[in-house]
Amino acid sequence: MLDQLVQPDTRLFAVEGRDFAYLPARNALFEIDAEDRIAIEAARGNARPADAIPVPAPAAPARPVLSLTLMVVQECNLACLYCYGGEGEYKNRGRMSVETALASVDHLFDRAGNAPEVSITFFGGEPLLNWPVVEAVVGHARAREAETGIRVGFSMTCNGTLLDAAKSDFLVANRVSVLISIDGDAAAHDGNRPQKGGRGSHAQIVSKTEPLRNARKLSARATVTPNNAAIDRQVDHLLKLGFRGVAFSPALDMMTPEAFAELDAAYDRLIDRFAGLVEAGQFAQAARLRNIYALLERIHSGRRKTHFCGAGTNMMAVDKDGEFYPCHRFVGDKRFVLGGLGRGEEKRAAFIAESAIDARDHCGQCWARNLCGGGCHHENVASNGTLALPNADYCRSTRSQLDRLLKVYAAMTPAQREDLFPA
Ligand code: SF4
Ligand code: SF4
Repeated sequence: MLDQLVQPDTRLFAVEGRDFAYLPARNALFEIDAEDRIAIEAARGNARPADAIPVPAPAAPARPVLSLTLMVVQECNLACLYCYGGEGEYKNRGRMSVETALASVDHLFDRAGNAPEVSITFFGGEPLLNWPVVEAVVGHARAREAETGIRVGFSMTCNGTLLDAAKSDFLVANRVSVLISIDGDAAAHDGNRPQKGGRGSHAQIVSKTEPLRNARKLSARATVTPNNAAIDRQVDHLLKLGFRGVAFSPALDMMTPEAFAELDAAYDRLIDRFAGLVEAGQFAQAARLRNIYALLERIHSGRRKTHFCGAGTNMMAVDKDGEFYPCHRFVGDKRFVLGGLGRGEEKRAAFIAESAIDARDHCGQCWARNLCGGGCHHENVASNGTLALPNADYCRSTRSQLDRLLKVYAAMTPAQREDLFPA
């Protein structure tokens, strides 16, 4: 084992007087003794690169898509400052027909093979603007579920402004997992997510989501900009409102160096809070801090990430006209069309190969590669024009978070890890 730990990029660190080594090539954390540490430090000047250790091959391109994001409408009633879809229209304003939506469901089921489960996400624009298609898809997918024995799960990302009692009841009755886009308190949110015409949307969202929030049926996702970079305060606000959990992600093109510094400090405070909740045995509360929980889960799993996310590998987005893209963010960028209804998925295998972490020379030099997976494909293209080159601010921030989280994980007892990540 000691031989395997002697790698140029092995990360050595101590927590509470105990020594640890994180081995990037295996995505594995080891507790070592002081002698091992000294031996590793002495020997690794001559170490060969970590790829001398055999690692699993990337996932086979033939894996079926088991998750479809349906762009049921490419229109929106808000005008969010950071929208990558141009006010939700993706250069192709309009609504998906029932026919296209049901054909997409059939595409998913017909290619699922022996999979036990598939999933469908309603997205837009604002998906509640095309409610008849949502109802039709749920009905048809349930029929296909009964016919094939393949279970189907539903989720939706929406802005919450168009929820009413009937829609809320339908979503609960059909176990649609709903994620509300909300960026924090009124001042933070309204600066980021105005209605068309400029008025804020926070008050409307808080009012329209109240029944589902009180029933603990909603999660929240915040986008971070200079308006809300002290994101820990906004996470508090959203948890107090009754959202089950909160995830956040920066709009990289809007962030200034000062805003990043503020976000990094807020992230540190959230990590401290997470560690305190674990120490106090409040695991369910800790899990509500979704970003931190997800990164720790990657450390815990020991799985090596072959891709940053499932875009193109096990999921795709279908635009309103039935064209396939790796995910919702790519919709409208014709360079990334993977196929379409009636044509198949002719370019998906090439995308899977090109977007793999192993295809990214830049990431191959990074100790965090098998925890990170190489950065959001779309952010890479938006920042640097290529899948292969990540956004530098994202990398700096991700490595700093992972560096701290490895220590948090190392400090946990085996019982705490099991309670936090039940098998
Ligand atoms: S995207 Fe950045 S942090 Fe992630 S593996 Fe690549 S270089 Fe490392
Ligand atoms: S490519 Fe980026 S935006 Fe698309 S699913 Fe992956 S992480 Fe999300």
